[in-house]
Amino acid sequence: MHNWLSQDIVEVLESVWTNEERGSADVETIADHAKTEVTEELLADCEREGYLTRNSSGEIRLTPLGRQTAGEIIRRHRLAERLVVDVLGMTLEESEADACEFEHLLARGVTDAICTLLGHPRFCPHNHPIPEGDCCRQAEDHVNSLVASIDRLEVGEQAQVAYVSAANFPRIRKLSSFGITPGVPIKIKQKFPSFVIQCDETQIALENDIARDIYVWRKSDNQ
Ligand SMILES: [Zn+2]
Ligand SMILES: [Zn+2]
Repeated sequence: MHNWLSQDIVEVLESVWTNEERGSADVETIADHAKTEVTEELLADCEREGYLTRNSSGEIRLTPLGRQTAGEIIRRHRLAERLVVDVLGMTLEESEADACEFEHLLARGVTDAICTLLGHPRFCPHNHPIPEGDCCRQAEDHVNSLVASIDRLEVGEQAQVAYVSAANFPRIRKLSSFGITPGVPIKIKQKFPSFVIQCDETQIALENDIARDIYVWRKSDNQ
């Protein structure tokens, strides 16, 4: 679809997106964070191709086309990071991929399949949000997930924690203080009215939105 996109334009779009997440649309900041030299010519190209607009105070905004294009790239990038860390068991440094190469680890056609396999994760290993794909909005896809958030599991189901993913680190620290860390086996004791899981000898009650942050490897032989 966007195969003709130049890598320079991709780098600009990624930088505009990530700076918008930090609340900035400032051209200087965007240029500082871009992994390519942001020239006036390059910005004009991006504008002419319809990816972004600039106002008189130098602020850069994505157009709907720019947002869709950048969102797909960011999504591939962050899902690839999850794949490397969760499935290959490597740190991002060990993978030896440059930060700007991650999106190339996933072919466009397999993005939704990888997202499904990983249980439609909401955050990358840096806890940056992963833009949703069509697959994330279709609940039935979860039966094909190798990894799932525990709110998708049934009562009695057992699984091993794959990772804890949340937008805030205090929450991750709190869960790890309960012993909920990668590799730990857990069992779903109750889903309603509140979520209760067994972790070692301890039963832990969780709010539903916290349960959504705990991702586990599913077992095929549940008892
Ligand atoms: Zn990341
Ligand atoms: Zn998905």
